Amino acid sequence: MTSAYALTPIGLIRTPFREKFGIPRQSGLVDVPGVVEMQPGFDKPGLFEGLEAFSHIWISFIFHQCIDQGWRERVRPPRLGGNQSKGVFATRSPFRPNHLGLSVVRLDRIVVDQGRVFLHVRGVDLLDGTPVVDIKPYLPYVDRVEAAVAGFAPDRPEARLDVVFSVSAEKQLQHLSPGEMQKNLIEQLVALDPRPAYQRNTAPGRVYGIQLGNCDVRWRVEGDVATVIAVEAVLK
Ligand code: SAH
Repeated sequence: MTSAYALTPIGLIRTPFREKFGIPRQSGLVDVPGVVEMQPGFDKPGLFEGLEAFSHIWISFIFHQCIDQGWRERVRPPRLGGNQSKGVFATRSPFRPNHLGLSVVRLDRIVVDQGRVFLHVRGVDLLDGTPVVDIKPYLPYVDRVEAAVAGFAPDRPEARLDVVFSVSAEKQLQHLSPGEMQKNLIEQLVALDPRPAYQRNTAPGRVYGIQLGNCDVRWRVEGDVATVIAVEAVLK
């Protein structure tokens, strides 16, 4: 029998996502900003020398928020509308042995502040505070496989909903800085329709909400249209 291995987080990622609901189901689907804050011992600028020349990086991380719930042998991938199950290793489900995750993100810039390193990235699918266990450059010659076949997830999921903002939500956005950026992000996240498949045809009139950065965002769905009804700053 093999032994157990301990992992030491080398960083923490800061993202606008305060809860799991509403996070895109893969990286790169929405241009969400994140910052990997390297932890003491792993935050020396020299450890990153050369990385600035790569446009994308792999982030290995721990799905720390579901460790308590263990893992499942069978998973119902959202891709299949939640009504077919597949083996856990045929999916990217967070509920897996070891709870290790892998995301490819764009590396915007590497910032050194008071001798510590911060990696500014885009396109994250991670909860705020997710522990990062490794960083590697993305290598197109090996990581991009032209002939790859992707089973039940052959294409990028399309935006499912048209997103409109109520007059009052527009007003609230105008008071936020930078409101335009926030609006764009909300639009893309809501358009992906984070609702569980089983709720798509039920629960009409239900209000959905996410906390995005310091904003509470709420919307309703009717048919293919999502109406954002509130974007409120959360008082800290
Ligand atoms: N690209 C990664 C993640 C895919 S699953 C991979 O393939 O390994 C992405 C989902 O994981 C998100 O939609 C969110 O619901 C969930 N998630 C993100 N960060 C998490 C965390 N720290 N703990 C538990 N679940 C998390």
